[in-house]
Amino acid sequence: MPHRTLIKGGTVITVDPALGDFAPGDVLVEDATIVEVGPELAAANADVIDAHDCLVLPGLVDTHRHTWQALFRNIGSDWTLAHYFTGLHGTLSGLYRPEDTYSGNLIGTLEALDSGITTLLDWSHNLNTPEHTDAALDAVVESGARVVFGHGGGHRHWQPVSALPHPADDVRRLREGRLATDDALVTLCLAPRGNQFATMEVTEQDWALADELGIRISCHFGDGEWGRGRPIAQLAEKGMLGPTLTLVHCNTLADDELRMMADAGCTASISPDIEMQMGHGWPATGRLLDAGIRPSLSIDVCCSNGGHLFGTMRATIGTERGFDNEQARERGEASVAEIELTCRDVLEFATIEGARACGLDRKIGSLTPGKRADVIVVRADSFGMTPLNNPVGAFVYNAHPGLVDTILVDGKVVKRDGKLVGVDQARVRRLAVESRDDIIRRADGKAGARIGGDWIPKAYEAVAADA
Ligand SMILES: [Zn+2]
Repeated sequence: MPHRTLIKGGTVITVDPALGDFAPGDVLVEDATIVEVGPELAAANADVIDAHDCLVLPGLVDTHRHTWQALFRNIGSDWTLAHYFTGLHGTLSGLYRPEDTYSGNLIGTLEALDSGITTLLDWSHNLNTPEHTDAALDAVVESGARVVFGHGGGHRHWQPVSALPHPADDVRRLREGRLATDDALVTLCLAPRGNQFATMEVTEQDWALADELGIRISCHFGDGEWGRGRPIAQLAEKGMLGPTLTLVHCNTLADDELRMMADAGCTASISPDIEMQMGHGWPATGRLLDAGIRPSLSIDVCCSNGGHLFGTMRATIGTERGFDNEQARERGEASVAEIELTCRDVLEFATIEGARACGLDRKIGSLTPGKRADVIVVRADSFGMTPLNNPVGAFVYNAHPGLVDTILVDGKVVKRDGKLVGVDQARVRRLAVESRDDIIRRADGKAGARIGGDWIPKAYEAVAADA
């Protein structure tokens, strides 16, 4: 007998246009799979989750987060990109021991999961030894979230423009060992530097490695000045664009480069909060849509901006609507006649488009029967959600992690009644604080490193000039 779970009586937003929404509706799960969605489902012997006064949606997908940085959350909330290069990559990154990587990844992945992110692409680019890699992986496996582990090399690889090869043997080791299958909850992708941050020779080696191992690539492009050198045109010339490539940011890529991406079937991940803070350029949302690419959303630098996608959805929609109205004004109109980017668009970016950017859209991203049961139940009985007049609008503009009541990943209940199941919260917090304290102690004041909110490191260019 399969194990059955019936999520009953909620406002069900399936994010599957063929199915539509149900208010009220039920979701029936058998073992790891969604088997039926609709009103008044009958299911004998099911565990019932009462979803009255709740929204029921597919789990959210964050397609790019440097999760290890969670130990230093908000330390960079007032930093520029140049401060970040000195403070994080130049000062703190190299001090991580494997146990620090573990504690950072553990609290960072659990933070994401707790906020309704059931799938996280952990863009792990501080893997300084194989022991760091194993520790990072231990934490994401322990979290219970669905994770695409993006192997991004170590901190020494991130001195642009680098001719250091990616630690390919470490990636091969994972593919031959713990991450051999694409059917598991934790899977592998390559997170290389690409031709903005490494030489073209290294970039070609990295693309060949992903090809050899049969894994996807997630890579930063178009973030600030580096993106103006036509990196995508260079890749297109060499036939290196394709549907297994996700381009992160895209802000300063030229319009014709966005069309090259679309023609090749590439996906995109945008991180509006950090892009606007760090001067990457305006979020490429509208230009990507014009080129025919529906972006996914991501957190990126979790030591600067917040770690939940509710904030990202709002940054995305607010910026793009501002743009659209400004363009209308430039055309001589008072404002747009109708809103161009809708709340439902942004919800899709945070769910099905995220799944697509992880190569998982046949498995997750909507509440479609046959897909894996990654489901979130969000309370809609708070003052801020009541009366519920527009469920998708309320989700995008008014929801927050504190309203995420129940979460299923792969059919398993991992959060119930507002609390993560089976997680020793005190231990996770203690490990994070101990690691943070230990790294700051070992930094020994280098570059002024301290916590408390008043550390503004010297800009990277100034440090480089001093050296
Ligand atoms: Zn990033």
